[in-house]
Amino acid sequence: MTQGDILRVILAGSSPGDRQWITELLQSGSSWRCQFSEADTGEAALRQAQAPTPGSEPILLACPLADMDAMRLIGRLIDPQGLTPCPVVVVTPGNGRDLGPVLLRAGAQDYIGEDWLSPYVLARAVDNARVRWAMERGLHEREDARKQAEDRLRQAQRLTQTIIDGAGALVFAKDLQGRYFLTNRAWRERVGLSEQQADGVTDEAVYGPLVAQDVRRNDEQVMASGRLVVAEETTFQRGRAVYYLSSKFPLLDETGHAYAVCGVSTDVTSLKETQAALQARERELQTLADNTPDILARFDRQLRHVFVSAAIERMTGRAPQDFIGRTARELDMPADLCDCWEIAVQAAFHEACAQTVAFTYEATGGLRHFSGRFVPEFGSDGTIDHVLAVLHDDTEQKRAEQDINRLLEEERHYARLLARMAQASRLVHASLSADEIAQVLTHQAREILGARRAVTELTLQGPGARNIQAVALAPDMNPSEPPHGTVLTASLTGKGGEPLGQVQLTGGPYGEFTHEDRTVLMQLAAIASTGLENARLYASLREADHRKDEFLATLAHELRNPLAPIRNGLEILRRSGQLTGPAALARDMMERQLAHMVRLVDDLLDVSRISRGKVDLRLVRLTLQSVLDSALESSRPAIEASNHRLVMQLPTEPVWIDGDLTRLAQVVSNLLNNAAKYTPAGGRIELSAQVEGSHAVIRVTDNGTGINADMLPRVFDLFAQVDHTLARAQGGLGIGLSLVKKLVELHGGDIRADSPGLGQGSRFTVRLPLATRTADDGTLLTSPTARLTTSDAPCRVLVCDDNVDGAESLALMLGLLGHEVRTVHDGPAALATVRHWRPNAVLLDIGLPGMSGYEVARQMRSDPGLRGILLIAVTGWGTQDDQRRSAAAGFDQHLTKPVEVTALESVLASHLTRAGHPPADPGAAG
Ligand code: ADP
Repeated sequence: MTQGDILRVILAGSSPGDRQWITELLQSGSSWRCQFSEADTGEAALRQAQAPTPGSEPILLACPLADMDAMRLIGRLIDPQGLTPCPVVVVTPGNGRDLGPVLLRAGAQDYIGEDWLSPYVLARAVDNARVRWAMERGLHEREDARKQAEDRLRQAQRLTQTIIDGAGALVFAKDLQGRYFLTNRAWRERVGLSEQQADGVTDEAVYGPLVAQDVRRNDEQVMASGRLVVAEETTFQRGRAVYYLSSKFPLLDETGHAYAVCGVSTDVTSLKETQAALQARERELQTLADNTPDILARFDRQLRHVFVSAAIERMTGRAPQDFIGRTARELDMPADLCDCWEIAVQAAFHEACAQTVAFTYEATGGLRHFSGRFVPEFGSDGTIDHVLAVLHDDTEQKRAEQDINRLLEEERHYARLLARMAQASRLVHASLSADEIAQVLTHQAREILGARRAVTELTLQGPGARNIQAVALAPDMNPSEPPHGTVLTASLTGKGGEPLGQVQLTGGPYGEFTHEDRTVLMQLAAIASTGLENARLYASLREADHRKDEFLATLAHELRNPLAPIRNGLEILRRSGQLTGPAALARDMMERQLAHMVRLVDDLLDVSRISRGKVDLRLVRLTLQSVLDSALESSRPAIEASNHRLVMQLPTEPVWIDGDLTRLAQVVSNLLNNAAKYTPAGGRIELSAQVEGSHAVIRVTDNGTGINADMLPRVFDLFAQVDHTLARAQGGLGIGLSLVKKLVELHGGDIRADSPGLGQGSRFTVRLPLATRTADDGTLLTSPTARLTTSDAPCRVLVCDDNVDGAESLALMLGLLGHEVRTVHDGPAALATVRHWRPNAVLLDIGLPGMSGYEVARQMRSDPGLRGILLIAVTGWGTQDDQRRSAAAGFDQHLTKPVEVTALESVLASHLTRAGHPPADPGAAG
């Protein structure tokens, strides 16, 4: 405020006199130009004092007021800072010594007692009050500014603390002695100290001497350089290294001297570990890339090589670094390979999926085969930055595959060849004649070796010596075409090395014959040679077998001849009734033995006939019961002779089968006889029959000697005998069961033998197929032919046999039966006798010397004068063939030797009666 300014004065006082007085005093005492505004109440004074005033502030001169005293006025004027809005001077009654100090303390700038009022005192009090108020105000304002500055500082400190606490990094400051005086929360949490504990702590205490040494070294570098130092620092926490990246800088005082080190440390442990892992991975990949035999290459979008593994050098002869930054084309690789790679790389980029290629490369060591995969490499954002190629050299594998294929093909070829050789061998060995073998060899050799023509020529020596030739031609070959092309020949030789012939091929499939062809042909020739040997052996075996059969047949036949007179003789003895006592017993014994012998001879003959396929069955529809009856009839004597008990279990209903009664009865009787034979006297024999499914089953069970398990399967073999001594003792030949089996099989049935073991009996089971439907025709046979025991029709009989005993004994027997009999011993004599004696019947042997029985029969039948004579063949030959032949020659009947007298009688009686011939007049001729 300058002298020219106006001093505004608020003059407060209830008394106008006071206000007037004061106005005058001030105007006279002050040098100021004053502008007065009066307030007669305290409220009015307050309003004026608190009203905002432009320019400089007024001064309040307060005289006594009616509505409020000076203390209250000041109390209401004073603001929270203890300042009044303008300077206040109070005029107190009296000298004001009591009230004055109180008013000053309450906030008034000055006071004047009325006692001392003068213009000068008032003016001085006004000036003093204004200066004091201004000073107080200034003081206040400075205090405010200081407080505000302090507030800002605190805020800044809080912010700083928040920031350094919020930072993930560890923030700290240490003084020159290394004592921490600032740490953030992260630092304290990391080292496990509270704020108080952290204050003043040293690195040594926190990290130990070794780590502290390193850390302090960095601090010292900061102090020495006065600049930022970034260093990696390692501490250890619970035995595990923790890595920090620390940025350290000095804190400088106003003079530029460093008084502390401040640092920010970031934990880079996981980063370091990741880096280490990445580096390890990188090293691994590098090792892999360096050592894998595959070629690894990485391409960028411009098809340039970014990376190539060492293996590329093996393929191309060029160092890997030559490739980097260049395309295959820039490297002058073959055009087709560049095309192949480019297409694959581009496809991998564009289609974002792996591509597979195969290519060849002419390497220094020759052509090599490669297969490759081009794989897109995706960045973290899914884009493809590179394509990685893995190229594999397949050359060796391809070669191995080719080798294997070749070997497989060879193996297949040899397998085919072997199969064909085996087939040829089978065919050769199945061939039983030299002609067949020659044919097979020729065809097989030509086909297997693919020749145009094959010729086999054999020269067979020994009995039946002859030459054989067989030719085989390719299907498209004309037989008249002359042979041309290369020739391959192999010889056939016998076991002793003698030449048998040769096989020759002309025109191999590929011109020349190979070494293998030669081996094959020689092998085929060797097989054929063996085949020829075998065929020869087979022929001689067959011949021997045939001779054996013939011999057996002849033997049986020849045995029958002497049996005939014996039987006749015995019959005569019986009928003559002359023998008594021991003689009669001897005769009976002889009859039994004769019957046995006849059966043996019959069996022998049957076996040889079956072997030669000369047995015909007379199949008729018949009942099983009839078969069993017939068998029992012939076996019962043997069973009874040994005192066996016969138990039978037979079906009550007729069981129909199709069979030959005689033969089937022979089967069962054979089994019964064996049971009787191989069971000690007084044994038990069971005969049972029943229907089982589609078969009639006959079982013959005994409790006799039994059969050993190892022998069971062989009892049906010809001449098989379990115990030779026993069998011999029982008078067997070992042909019975063989015959039985063959007869059963001829009937479509089967037979088996069972025995629990030696001494435990045996069981023979025969199964015969049932007749498919019951018969209702006249072919049924239900019981054996009835026997005639008496001759009630005597007639004239001529017996012709070159065996004189046979003829005479038969004659004797017929004589005893009441017939008139004559004998002759050859054909011509027979014819002559027939012509002049005119017998009713002729018993004619067939095997006569000079003129056979057939011839005699034929001549008789061709002579009309001899019609009506019964012509009976009496012979050792008894097959159906023989019977057919005799019937063809004109015989009416065919009886086999030794003739059973009852059979003969029955034939004579029935025939002569049926033919209507009266019995011959015994005296009609001489
Ligand atoms: P054989 O003429 O010897 O009896 P077979 O062919 O009839 O000839 O029998 C062959 C062998 O089977 C006999 O030698 C005998 O050892 C044995 N055999 C046959 N039937 C019986 C049986 N019922 N009990 C024990 N052994 C038997």
